[in-house]
Amino acid sequence: MIVQLKKDISPEQKTHLIGEINQAGYKITEVSTQLGEYLIGIGTAQFDIRRFGHHEGIQDIHIVSDDYKLVSNKWKVKPTIIDLGDGVFIKEGDMALMAGPCSIESEEQIRKVLDHLTANRIKIMRGGVYKPRSSPYAFRGLGIEGLKLWYKLAREAGIKIVTEVMQVSQIAEMYDYVDVYQVGARNTQNFNLLDELGRVDKAVMIKRGISGTIEELLQSAEYVFSGGNEKLILCERGIRTYERASRNTLDLNAVPVLKSKSHLPVVVDPSHGIGIRQFVPPMALAAVMAGADGIIYETHEVPEKALSDGQQTLDFAQSALLVDQVRKTFELRKTFSFL
Ligand code: PEP
Ligand code: MN
Repeated sequence: MIVQLKKDISPEQKTHLIGEINQAGYKITEVSTQLGEYLIGIGTAQFDIRRFGHHEGIQDIHIVSDDYKLVSNKWKVKPTIIDLGDGVFIKEGDMALMAGPCSIESEEQIRKVLDHLTANRIKIMRGGVYKPRSSPYAFRGLGIEGLKLWYKLAREAGIKIVTEVMQVSQIAEMYDYVDVYQVGARNTQNFNLLDELGRVDKAVMIKRGISGTIEELLQSAEYVFSGGNEKLILCERGIRTYERASRNTLDLNAVPVLKSKSHLPVVVDPSHGIGIRQFVPPMALAAVMAGADGIIYETHEVPEKALSDGQQTLDFAQSALLVDQVRKTFELRKTFSFL
């Protein structure tokens, strides 16, 4: 159960209401976000929700039977719109494009990618300055100084930044230089990190865990939301299966399933999803047709020289072609209707 509270509810009204709901057999957690105040009721007792309707302080009350609550579309029917400012949105009805290298490497590299994005009207640049690498001896990113330099150049170009945060201590130092915090697949269930991102008033994109279920992804998003931050984006990036012919198994089923369960925008990362450069574009287009609200992919001037993930990175010509095809596919999708 989700009870949306009115902004002007008095402490006495709230205490009284919580007492009544407790009596009905529900355990209450109070949630206060940047946008609203909620009571989350956990319980199984059956009752007519109209019996609470007379309370002055209630805005609305909903039965949500899913284990996740606030990210469910059972209470919030309108899709969440992520507004990054300057006319840049991630939302249903739009096709957000986020492109850039796996790792931020140098000033020259950043400038080249920004020029490529500008030439192709891409408004969000991806890239890692803290890199989760399977080997401790691999390139692990330029760190905060790299992010500061990137931010300066990106702002000059009018381009937003999405980048991975790996641990709680990085959240504050990164804050002034990011538009979207990315939670990587290895951190999807780092609940301390998710709790802390709940306290931040910037968008958070959560990637699906390497062996994570759709339900677990939604529960991770629930952590951030219930921590106070409603600005959330879900990202399908492939899961670990028994199949070894591709890096991961891009689960495009997750797109319509997530969209049917949650009001949050869903983006797809075909680069990590398949891990093979020449197959990234068809999987990106398939993701568009599956209903994705955005695509995030890797591009670099010379993928063969990239310090990480070159094998799945598009060069600028391939990237430009893909952007054109994604836009055309999105226009085509808009003309289709599905049952
Ligand atoms: C990335 O986007 O650079 C990345 C490390 O992705 P993932 O967490 O999905 O592996
Ligand atoms: Mn990568």
